[in-house]
Amino acid sequence: MAERLTGHTELIGLMAYPIRHSSSPAMHNEAFAYLGLDYAYLAFEVDNSTLEDAVKGIRALKLVGANVSMPNKTVVGKYLDKLSPAAELVGAVNTIVNRDGVLEGHITDGIGYMESLRDYDIDVIGKKMTIVGAGGAATAIEIQAALDGVAEISIFNIKDKFYEVGEETVRKINEKTNCKAKMFDLADKDALRREIADSYLLANATGMGMKPLEGKTWLPDASYLRPDLIVTDTVYAPAETEFLRIAKEVGCKHMNGFGMMLFQGAAGFKMWTGHDMPIEHMKEVLGIRYGE
Ligand code: NAD
Repeated sequence: MAERLTGHTELIGLMAYPIRHSSSPAMHNEAFAYLGLDYAYLAFEVDNSTLEDAVKGIRALKLVGANVSMPNKTVVGKYLDKLSPAAELVGAVNTIVNRDGVLEGHITDGIGYMESLRDYDIDVIGKKMTIVGAGGAATAIEIQAALDGVAEISIFNIKDKFYEVGEETVRKINEKTNCKAKMFDLADKDALRREIADSYLLANATGMGMKPLEGKTWLPDASYLRPDLIVTDTVYAPAETEFLRIAKEVGCKHMNGFGMMLFQGAAGFKMWTGHDMPIEHMKEVLGIRYGE
């Protein structure tokens, strides 16, 4: 008889809609199997209308925890008992940990990004970064970078509904951390050139480069980059965006969003199980390469 799932198996859920396409169940279940841990990770179609009941279900069924994705990330906090400092500042939760009935909310997207930099021998602590984006992924990265000790962050965004979110992030960073943050309009190309020029790292955290904006980038041309600039993208499909293609051409050390995805999962994995995710094994199984 199969012994993988038993009466002792602990459950971790993923609550989002749509969610059936997610690679998280395959990632976590592979890691449990590899380490011989008695947990199972399953996806549940939950939207804002069923979220409160689903969270009550975590308590009632004594789930170890859960991941939360869209459209629930910015809503679920009010149903939880505690928020991490980053989740509080970002205003979003992607990981719930059940500690004896007390539900903690964490945001691990920024942790995942910062950890992926370390994994690729990139050390941005105490330095300046320029980041384009003010949406969910960008905000998580900006807040975590500031909390972790990045010295300066210059944020650029187009003047859409996210611009105000960026301004709010700048305000929070300057008020609550030792990092100095500034906001710029992405249309201001002189400012973009100037801010990139004395940055150690340049990050894309917009959806530009993936469908339906595949093959596109906000970077005007290669002259904005220099070979010793570190360039990162949150996009991982395609593995090489137009932005990273230009960075590669200039000779910049560059990294796509696979690392962020893997390490945001690894952070939750550690909180739920107390074990480190087997990173090198997962890279191999998932076919992850950051981009050389
Ligand atoms: P979002 O909708 O919250 O934010 C979108 C961002 O893109 C905003 O800053 C917006 O202003 C910007 N944008 C949209 N159209 C633009 C355009 N034409 N020109 C310039 N900027 C434009 O989305 P999100 O959840 O923050 O996701 C952003 C990207 O990050 C996506 O590509 C997503 O796949 C990726 N992501 C990766 C990970 C990971 O683990 N690697 C995690 C989350 C998101």
